[in-house]
Amino acid sequence: METLVRKNIKNLNAYKVDAPQYEIIVNANESPYDFPMALKQQFCDEICHTDLNRYPEACFPELLKELSDYTGVYAEGIICGSGSDEIIAMINQAFVNPGDVIVSHSPSFAMYDIWATIADAKHIRVNDLPDHQPDIDTMIDEACENNAKLVFLCNPNNPTGHTFSRDDILKILDAVPSLVILDEAYIEFFGKSSVDLITKYPRLLILRTLSKAFGLAGIRCGYALGNKEIIDVLYKVKGPYNLNVLTQKIAVIALKNRVSILSNLEILKAEREKAMAFLEALNAFKLYPSGSNFIYFEAPQAEEIYEALLQNNILIKYFKDEARETGSIRFSIGTPQENQKILAIIKEVVYNGA
Ligand code: PMP
Repeated sequence: METLVRKNIKNLNAYKVDAPQYEIIVNANESPYDFPMALKQQFCDEICHTDLNRYPEACFPELLKELSDYTGVYAEGIICGSGSDEIIAMINQAFVNPGDVIVSHSPSFAMYDIWATIADAKHIRVNDLPDHQPDIDTMIDEACENNAKLVFLCNPNNPTGHTFSRDDILKILDAVPSLVILDEAYIEFFGKSSVDLITKYPRLLILRTLSKAFGLAGIRCGYALGNKEIIDVLYKVKGPYNLNVLTQKIAVIALKNRVSILSNLEILKAEREKAMAFLEALNAFKLYPSGSNFIYFEAPQAEEIYEALLQNNILIKYFKDEARETGSIRFSIGTPQENQKILAIIKEVVYNGA
């Protein structure tokens, strides 16, 4: 078997992860709020009147209409995927030849690297400057010198919460010869989308998802917004029925009811600010401003915090840094009760360890 597998796939680890079984799960930047029961009921009613023996719409016209209404982008400039993960895969399939260069800032979303590895590309990860400011000048130099096919910018960034200014985005768009992929998975928490730049920059592609602000990680629905020319290329590599009928139906219901679903944003943003102020007052960590639905900080006690939370049936994300004394923590904003519990345990670790 070994001899049959492509060489760049041999050392990849399969993503075989069991769904976490904890009382509070805040490790994956999900929403703590489930889809409203009345809308689940509406979905069930619609499914009762849907022929499941038929293939779904291959190009999801009703969903495109709703997404167009939500984003202001014409339907021809939108494509959907089974999560934005699938769209990152499609981008690699459509644009990247073995040996091509992909540039991103680091740390950022892990799937950029995994899909680059599968495409047998050379992924240049440009380390952030101090304070997790992306090193934009070096990214531009690397993209230009290597004629990079893709440049990934994650705005707001996972895991650091960093947000790119309009000027930074324009500087990169104006300088590089590449397709610029602006990952706006968390944009609803930040509010400053770059979607208006699509008409001026034909090489800009924006990635979005219903997994975060819409609280629908379970249905796997992501989408990309761009110029018709790029989107047409992505349609060439899209699987025929990549979005099943159930996903299409729930996504349409969600978008039609977006005003009520997105009202949770205000609660989550207010909770984020409260949690930031609480952690700041502990004066024990290097805390980073967040434009997203999670908080990221570096702490000498990171491992103790992670363990203490686990013992209390709470799962967060812990990044071990072998090279330094400190590790980092990222946890998503939960319900007010969940946040209170998490913060109280963090405070206890800080005080006991002092
Ligand atoms: N981009 C970023 C920055 C993310 O953090 C995630 C999910 N963690 C995704 C894309 C993928 O989201 P999904 O596949 O659920 O749409």
